Amino acid sequence: MEPNRGNDNNNKKPDGGERPKNSIVTALLITVVIVLLFSWLLNAVESSQYTQTRYDEFKQAMDAGQLAEVLIKSDRIVYLTKEEAAKDPSVQKACYTGLPSGNVMELANELEAMGVKVDKEIVEDNSLIMMILSYVVMIGGLFLVMNMLTKRMGSDGMMGGFGKSKAKVYMEKQTGVTFKDVAGQDEAKESLQEIIDFLHNPQKYTAIGAKLPKGALLVGSPGTGKTLLAKAVAGEANVPFFSISGSDFVEMFVGMGASRVRDLFQQAAKVAPCIIFIDEIDAVGRSRDTRYGSNSEQEQTLNQLLSEIDGFEPSKGIVCLAATNRPEILDKALLRPGRFDRRIIVDRPNLQGRLDTLKVHTRKIKLSEDVDLRKIAQATAGAVGADLANLVNEAALRAVRQGRKAVNQEDLLVSFETVIAGTEKKNTVLTDMEKRLVAYHEVGHALVAALEKHSQPVSKITIVPHTSGALGYTMQMPEEEKFLSTADELRTELRTLVGGRAAEQVVFGIQTTGAANDIQRATALARNMVTQYGMSERFGLMTTATVQNQYLDGQAYMDCSQETAAGVDQEVMRLLEEAYGDAKRILTQKRALLDEISEFLLVKETITGDELMAYVNADANQLPEPERTTEE
Ligand code: ADP
Ligand code: ZN
Repeated sequence: MEPNRGNDNNNKKPDGGERPKNSIVTALLITVVIVLLFSWLLNAVESSQYTQTRYDEFKQAMDAGQLAEVLIKSDRIVYLTKEEAAKDPSVQKACYTGLPSGNVMELANELEAMGVKVDKEIVEDNSLIMMILSYVVMIGGLFLVMNMLTKRMGSDGMMGGFGKSKAKVYMEKQTGVTFKDVAGQDEAKESLQEIIDFLHNPQKYTAIGAKLPKGALLVGSPGTGKTLLAKAVAGEANVPFFSISGSDFVEMFVGMGASRVRDLFQQAAKVAPCIIFIDEIDAVGRSRDTRYGSNSEQEQTLNQLLSEIDGFEPSKGIVCLAATNRPEILDKALLRPGRFDRRIIVDRPNLQGRLDTLKVHTRKIKLSEDVDLRKIAQATAGAVGADLANLVNEAALRAVRQGRKAVNQEDLLVSFETVIAGTEKKNTVLTDMEKRLVAYHEVGHALVAALEKHSQPVSKITIVPHTSGALGYTMQMPEEEKFLSTADELRTELRTLVGGRAAEQVVFGIQTTGAANDIQRATALARNMVTQYGMSERFGLMTTATVQNQYLDGQAYMDCSQETAAGVDQEVMRLLEEAYGDAKRILTQKRALLDEISEFLLVKETITGDELMAYVNADANQLPEPERTTEE
């Protein structure tokens, strides 16, 4: 990678003068080669047609009066004997010989006097000039054509090369998209604001010596508006926008990906400041370890991308934005500081976000009186921006089909059925019952935590399906850095983890698959408590597992007898059951509060930790909290 980089930097200087000169030289060389080849070929063809003879053979035939036809050319005499001339023209074989040293005109006259048919092709003195002239014209013409060809190729992106295919780089001078066109996504916009500011005046940052991020990674499900956001950044900063898809880099011949990357950055450097947007970066940025299956072409492209990103000057004002929905498979090298070190989450929109998106997309559409966008927004939990844009468009098409002048509510509802409910995207759009379950589950976690810790345990609870596939989630408060946890705290954590399942059980009497991840984490925690932390009654201080590679995966391996291992399992189970029992008891006692908060969450879809605590505190003030008998 390193030696490569030196090269690139040399190539990369976008000095305008060098390229045209290069292509002229190329064109000239190619022209000369073609002309030489052409005349050689002509000669060869001619030579193979005729048989070469010595001059005295020609003279003999002439003197014997055997000649039928003679053609005197600038460099040879071609002749046909009477014997051959009598044959069928297709099998006639002419001969040629060199020119005599004396005057050719004399020879011609002599031949004519003998009654031989003589053709003088170019025997005049100016023949040489004519020949040179014709060559010059030919070379000139060809040169013009070649020059035009190389220039076209050059401006298409591939550097003065033949046989390279057209790059699929899309450049927009002005995207015409601004943040106004992107509904919701306030957090993402805020993170991108700095980049816009930087593109506006890089000097402000460089004067202080601040290094600006060269790249940011937009992470989110397809259709959540990552491309739109990137375009909006370019639009807001009023800079050109380059976009290319990661898959464009790798679907070609070996070595093409890398040259395409180089080319992309070269083009960008010429018009900097600008934005480079790489969609689906996982296609080229896939981890180079073999776990996810990579190949050398992809690796080469990735290396080139890395060195280009490292190569350009931050003060130039090139910002790379990349989009992916699988950040976990990206090569760690891509995420290192100075590369795509910022991660901007582009989530599925919540109720308000969906409403705003619908508003953005219905701006230019005539709506009839009865349209209630809020209702549509409520019905489309889990839908992404692209779905909603599509929905609005389908509704408009339906209105046109039915010969109406405006879109009505029914159009919107019907196209909701076809666009969203009818497709495989259904799994992200929850039914009402599922939504209830998810809401209670999440509030279950949060409430158990709040009641146990007597402090705000979460910063956000949401039932908007998450990029990661979780149907809802509870965002823990960022705790101050903590190095030690007490056994009590860990037990509280266990109860919180199983709180979701407990709520399902207490309220609906059913168990769902949504708790799988909770259960996994609770089990792992309980196991650590027993095997490593010495926190179980049964095994006391005995450790039954050791961590082998603390700095790698931190995985612990059991090192005890089979019977002890079985005992550990039982102890883990006991801990979990205990926590589950506690969680169920807490939620049963606070059932009214659980209902109240869950209903609120169902309506709002996202609630903050403060809102949660307002409910909890109001409840605590109403009736003093009954003594709970948790052991310890
Ligand atoms: P992604 O790149 O994340 O797959 P896109 O940016 O291509 O998604 O979004 C596709 C289309 O969906 C956009 O062109 C736009 O019409 C619509 N869209 C997505 N998100 C939003 C949003 N937040 N606000 C308005 N329109 C959106
Ligand atoms: Zn859960």
